[in-house]
Amino acid sequence: LKQVCFKGERVMWIQPTTLQELVTLKSQYPNAKLVVGNTEVGIEMRLKNMLYPVILAPAWIPEMNAVQHTETGEEKERQYLLSEWELQYKRKTVSYFCSCFSHAALEQLRWFAGPQIRNVAALGGNIMTASPISDLNPVLMASGSKLTLISTEGKRTVTMDEKFFTGYRKTIVKPEEVLLSVEIPYSKEGEYFSAFKQAYRREDDIAIVTCGMRVLFQHGTSRVQEVKLSYGGMAPTTILALKTCQELTGRDWNEKLLQDACHLLAGEMDLSPSAPGGMVEFRRTLTLSFFFKFYLTVLQKLS
Ligand code: FAD
Repeated sequence: LKQVCFKGERVMWIQPTTLQELVTLKSQYPNAKLVVGNTEVGIEMRLKNMLYPVILAPAWIPEMNAVQHTETGEEKERQYLLSEWELQYKRKTVSYFCSCFSHAALEQLRWFAGPQIRNVAALGGNIMTASPISDLNPVLMASGSKLTLISTEGKRTVTMDEKFFTGYRKTIVKPEEVLLSVEIPYSKEGEYFSAFKQAYRREDDIAIVTCGMRVLFQHGTSRVQEVKLSYGGMAPTTILALKTCQELTGRDWNEKLLQDACHLLAGEMDLSPSAPGGMVEFRRTLTLSFFFKFYLTVLQKLS
């Protein structure tokens, strides 16, 4: 394979063949867009009149087209198409060790766009778009997934935590960096994971509020060792309900915890009456009803 380059009047499209080539091109053109499914970039260019003079297509790069099982978790390259991901989970070929995460991811993918989009859109494109109503980012954030970024300076790994998204459609990833892979930690014994989405329509619609929720219990007990509640649609970025999670740690999973969690979430998941997207009361209520569903799901599994 040889690098391909098409030059038009306004746009230059380059398809490199090696990771080294891609990284060098990204340092040469830091504002270049990486295009896989084109379901975000295409909309921006056609409907929002954005112009990206340099497009890099990483489809041929082997390092970005694989799934590996590492010691700590399952590592997916960022071009993994959403439909492939869904299929692997359904066939249970990939996620034996990530069973509780995969159940939640599959639930989100079921309601993610339509098959046409899922057949071309990639996991990395969803992360890097950093939409506040992304369906997968809350799930990845609640799981504590790690991202490996690469540039001519080398590789670095960052966790998808409350610091990853820095503003509306912004992340800590530098313009010259490329997202190389996503590591999803293996599920542990005593861990439960759910994801919920509320949209206008059930199928093929963007979320009003979406979430990923994970709890890990101390061995053989119903005492919370770690809990992560991540929401989309409640701020300009995907967020973690940090204060609520902190307060719930060390507590028993019972009705008192439910009451306190609802009280804490109501305070923490606040929205100004003029928040973009409107439906402020509805969105705030959804954060509580999602937690209520999660609480009941976990309670049932514990008993
Ligand atoms: P692309 O458009 O190819 O790229 C998107 C962005 O990611 C670009 O800025 C690109 O530069 C950057 N990028 C991609 N890969 C890398 C990398 N490796 N390193 C650095 N930057 C990178 N989203 C949802 O969450 N839920 C939905 O239900 C949903 N429904 C949709 C329905 C429709 C009809 C459409 C058009 C879109 C929908 N989306 C939805 C949004 C979109 O499909 C997803 O965000 C998708 O995952 C984007 O992937 P892509 O490969 O098409 O991205």
